[in-house]
Amino acid sequence: MKPKKIREVSLPPKVVFFKPQGRSLRETEIINLNIDEYEAIRLADYEKLNHYESSKMMNISRPTFTRLLESAHNKISSAIVEGKAIRIEGGEFKFSGKVFQCNRCGQFQNLENKKDNAEICSNCSSDDLTEISADSFRRHRRGRWRNKP
Ligand SMILES: [Zn+2]
Repeated sequence: MKPKKIREVSLPPKVVFFKPQGRSLRETEIINLNIDEYEAIRLADYEKLNHYESSKMMNISRPTFTRLLESAHNKISSAIVEGKAIRIEGGEFKFSGKVFQCNRCGQFQNLENKKDNAEICSNCSSDDLTEISADSFRRHRRGRWRNKP
C-alpha cells in the first residue's frame, strides 16, 4: 500500500462558519468541510486553476484532487440546497510554506521566509504578523479563528 501523501494547503479560510439566516443553530444541521476540501474549492473554483495545476499545488495526484473537489462540491451543494450550516475545519493537511496572519485586519498570507520587518500585510500594510500553525485549523475552535493580538 502506498503511503498517503499529506495534502498541502497554502492559504487557510478567513471565515470558518456559515449559517443559514432565520434559523437557530440548534435546529440546523452542520456540514463539516475539511481545510483540504476548502483549498480544493479555492484553487479550482476561485483561482480558476485546472485540476492538474491544483493537484501540483496540493502535492497530490490529479485523480485524488478531482475526488477531493467533488467531495467539497457535494457538501456545499447539500448545504445551500437543504439549508445546512457549513463549518470549515479539520482534515489531513499541512501548510506549504509559512502562513502568517495580520494582527490588525486578520488577513492571511503565505510567506516562504519572513525576514525581519521585511514583510507587511498585503491588505493593510501592518507589520504585526503572527505565524499560524496548521494544528489551529485541525482542532475544533468553536468559531474562533483569530489569535489574540
Ligand atoms: Zn492587515
